[in-house]
Amino acid sequence: MSIFIGGAWVYANGSLHLGHLSSLLSGDILARYYRLKGEKVLYVSGSDCNGTPITIKAKQEGVSPTQIADQYHEEFKDCFTKLGFTYDVYTRTDTAHHHQIVQEIFLKLLKKGLIYKKTIEQTYCEHDQQFLPDRYVEGICPHCGAKARGDQCDVCSSVLEPLELLDRKCKICGNPPTTRETEHFYFALSSFQKRLESYTHEAEKNKLWRENAISLTKRYLKEGLQDRAVSRDLPVGVSVPVEGYEDKKIYVWIEAVAGYYTASKLWAKETNNDDSTFWNSDATSYYVHGKDNIPFHSIIWPGILSGIGEKALPTHIVSNEYMTLERKKLSTSKNWAVWIPDILERYNPDSIRYFLTINAPESRDADFSWKEFIYSHNSELLGAYGNLVNRTLKFIQKSFDGMIPDKEISTSIQNKVEQLYDEVGYCIEKFSFKQGLEKVFEVIRFSNKYFDEQQPWKQIYDTPDTCKQTIANCVYLIANLAHILTPFLPFSSGKVKEMLNIAEVKWRPFQVRSQQLLSVEPLFERIDLARIEEELERLNKQSS
Ligand SMILES: [Zn+2]
Ligand SMILES: [Zn+2]
Repeated sequence: MSIFIGGAWVYANGSLHLGHLSSLLSGDILARYYRLKGEKVLYVSGSDCNGTPITIKAKQEGVSPTQIADQYHEEFKDCFTKLGFTYDVYTRTDTAHHHQIVQEIFLKLLKKGLIYKKTIEQTYCEHDQQFLPDRYVEGICPHCGAKARGDQCDVCSSVLEPLELLDRKCKICGNPPTTRETEHFYFALSSFQKRLESYTHEAEKNKLWRENAISLTKRYLKEGLQDRAVSRDLPVGVSVPVEGYEDKKIYVWIEAVAGYYTASKLWAKETNNDDSTFWNSDATSYYVHGKDNIPFHSIIWPGILSGIGEKALPTHIVSNEYMTLERKKLSTSKNWAVWIPDILERYNPDSIRYFLTINAPESRDADFSWKEFIYSHNSELLGAYGNLVNRTLKFIQKSFDGMIPDKEISTSIQNKVEQLYDEVGYCIEKFSFKQGLEKVFEVIRFSNKYFDEQQPWKQIYDTPDTCKQTIANCVYLIANLAHILTPFLPFSSGKVKEMLNIAEVKWRPFQVRSQQLLSVEPLFERIDLARIEEELERLNKQSS
């Protein structure tokens, strides 16, 4: 089976925060899992280096957009590496390769009449002497009355054009913009109405998308798809490849989502591989992002792919709800955020991965609080998992000179482990990551209980042979638990595998036989509860 996984492309205009990570982490869990199963996996993403947020940030800081993009692209790469993300390709949208393929897509659509020219009125700032596309305009959403940007309302999820906003203001200087006539290219999205209706219907019938993706997409389809402008008067981006229009840039709608495709081609080129297996009608794909990105993946991207004759429309849409911070909405402008480079300086990446999975905003908003984060580390990772591993291996060191006892594993334990592989695999494939992780921790708790009830520390004197059986069973449980946890908690799983000297294994039960323990180290350290107050203070200070 070929599995394509596309992680959302983050704008390279500021650091990653927990909100980004909570909607991206599922991609790595999927990629690691499918690789363990032996499937062909291509996991791609990159930094969005062309969008208006970057030009705005560059203008605010008085540097070039490239400087901003370079800085954050490098930072993103570093964070993803430290978090254990296993992208096959992590690229950026300002490469010559990306530009060229996006232009090819544009020309294909133009040739088919799916992109056409039209003269329109557009917002223009007399003060800054430039057209104001998208996020350059802010105002009031005509649908719900909330404050909104010129491209989208975050409150009611309406996709907007700047001229639809009420009480418009220029984002650069704050003055109300005027309007001027200009020519733009339009994408004939409305011509895909029927096709996308049946596509969405199939997804709903087979439960292939998250609930929020189904309901939002159906809402757009019910309102009727509108042709959308796909060119912009912007200084940076992919130039429109039509003579006389080179100063215009292709709008991020077409351009950034096409990154999945261009990154795939880049991988093929750089690794001398064929990527067509990921783009045929049998391919399975997972698109992993937050709910604000849904229409780009459920409507725009399938529309573009259909337009250029590619068969592999997204099969699975994994769109998380939002993450709040200490019960309040995350806000980058108010600095009410936990920044990834910062949290990585003080905490284990597996603690972050654990918390963001067990509290993932899969079907409703979820909250990150420092108290819950530190408690979950201490009680689940250290108290349950770490403790199971540590006391079992220490016991082997003390009572068996570090030699793992060789016994046939009890059938009931074998069955339990076999069942766990099936259940967790099923959960991951159906993108219920939280449920999958919960199931593993149920068996961790079962294993601790088993250890307590067997009392190996007594068995070793009373019935030494039964003691060997107990410990062999425990090692079997630990080895397989660590293996099943690899997609979720790769760092601690790696540590367990190292201690038990486990070579690479596929996604199936296995036994570690009469092996000498290499070393025994604690999996996790306890986090002092005083840190909760320290972190809250830090957060309040940075945001005040
Ligand atoms: Zn609104
Ligand atoms: Zn202005």
